[in-house]
Amino acid sequence: STPSIVINVNGIEVIYNHVILVLKGVSLQVADGQIAALLGGNGAGKTTTLRSISNLLKAERGEVTKGSVEMRGERIDHLSTSDLVKRGVVQVMEGRHCFAHLTIEENLLTGAYTRSGKAEIAASLEKVYNYFPRLKTRRTSQAAYTSGGEQQMCAIGRALMANPSVLLLDEPSMGLAPQIVEEVFEIVKDLNQKERVTFLIAEQNTNMALRYADYGYIMESGRIVMDGKADDLRNNEDVKEFYLGMG
Ligand code: ATP
Repeated sequence: STPSIVINVNGIEVIYNHVILVLKGVSLQVADGQIAALLGGNGAGKTTTLRSISNLLKAERGEVTKGSVEMRGERIDHLSTSDLVKRGVVQVMEGRHCFAHLTIEENLLTGAYTRSGKAEIAASLEKVYNYFPRLKTRRTSQAAYTSGGEQQMCAIGRALMANPSVLLLDEPSMGLAPQIVEEVFEIVKDLNQKERVTFLIAEQNTNMALRYADYGYIMESGRIVMDGKADDLRNNEDVKEFYLGMG
């Protein structure tokens, strides 16, 4: 059976600072329980697409001027970021964004800001430690003194504390050694399979992303120029020539 669509981005245009047209009619669908990859080089518009879904554009003086974003058939583009978090749509921003002066555990707990119920939050924390054993060993360390990989794990763990159904990851591989990237993607796959978290992952590391994704979209200059099943994209001659060397 075909999985249902959770996130439907429908022909969006995005303008920054009232003048700079960055997304020129982007449409994509993320199917329930899948891992979708959003690929393309620097400045292609991946981050902007994620921000349009999680409503983080305003802080960057950006706005959606055309099109719509739907979750399970319902428009969500008017919702605030925290309302989206409550509905289960959570973005992990590029560059990790842990609070440097807080411990790993304090950072994780900040991710539960939309939730109440101490026992449930404690259970989520245990679950995060279960998926990220490295974070458990580093729980009392200040984030500033942990490695890049641990900070990326902390950022994902923090998002998990909101109990998301859809996680938007912005370049999780950025600045990490290949072995650590692999470790992070393995955990993503685990979360996808065991917790049924749906992922949309923006990545310049095409090769790694397509190894783990079910479906891929390739962006260039604010447009989707190609899409397909991850395995088909991996074997596509144009993709091999233009994108698989990247990242
Ligand atoms: P990267 O990997 O560098 O993050 P990306 O594919 O995620 O690339 P975006 O960050 O979405 O691309 O940027 C798309 C375009 O929008 C780029 O040309 C960028 O310069 C421009 N842009 C991004 N943020 C802003 C902003 N706040 N104001 C003006 N222009 C912006």
